[in-house]
Amino acid sequence: MGYAEVTVVQGDITQQQVDAVVNAANRRMRGGGGVDGAIHRAGGPAVLEDCRRRFPHGLATGDAGWTTAGDLPARWVVHVVGPNHAAGETDRALLVSCYARALAVADELGARTVAFPLVSAGIYGWPRQDAIDCAVATLAGTPTTVEEARIVAHDAATAAQVRASLSE
Ligand code: ADP
Repeated sequence: MGYAEVTVVQGDITQQQVDAVVNAANRRMRGGGGVDGAIHRAGGPAVLEDCRRRFPHGLATGDAGWTTAGDLPARWVVHVVGPNHAAGETDRALLVSCYARALAVADELGARTVAFPLVSAGIYGWPRQDAIDCAVATLAGTPTTVEEARIVAHDAATAAQVRASLSE
């Protein structure tokens, strides 16, 4: 097993032409705001149906699991549940786990290209710079068969911050 090449683009995660996109889900896995809302809107009802069927009890914080990607260009959605910093979940190991578990699930699926949002950096309020550093270090340092781990930053300032973290 090797290591993924970590890349960054500015854009919308739902539009990525990759094998799998990662969703910043919540424990219930029944949809939400931010990336979760965008993925369910663009993926259509098949994503929610598969969430209900495969994860009737949802997912634990720090864990990952896959569903169909419905109408998205990707083939799979890998759902992860980031720690809710805003609600007092500040254990960084849980955020590291989201990226490591997502890569492990992508390995099981045989996904070679995977797009990641900055998990927990939105509604869940994880400090931006640390969320970026955690994504970059974990994606670059975890053995995997994924070839490209693409970090999708929603805005230009965040994309620049990810690029800076990547070149450190
Ligand atoms: P969480 O609840 O885990 O904090 P969010 O979805 O609220 O997750 O936000 C995670 C990050 O994804 C934030 O940096 C947010 O700006 C960004 N984001 C929101 N929508 C999209 C999108 N459609 N594509 C890529 N990134 C997005």
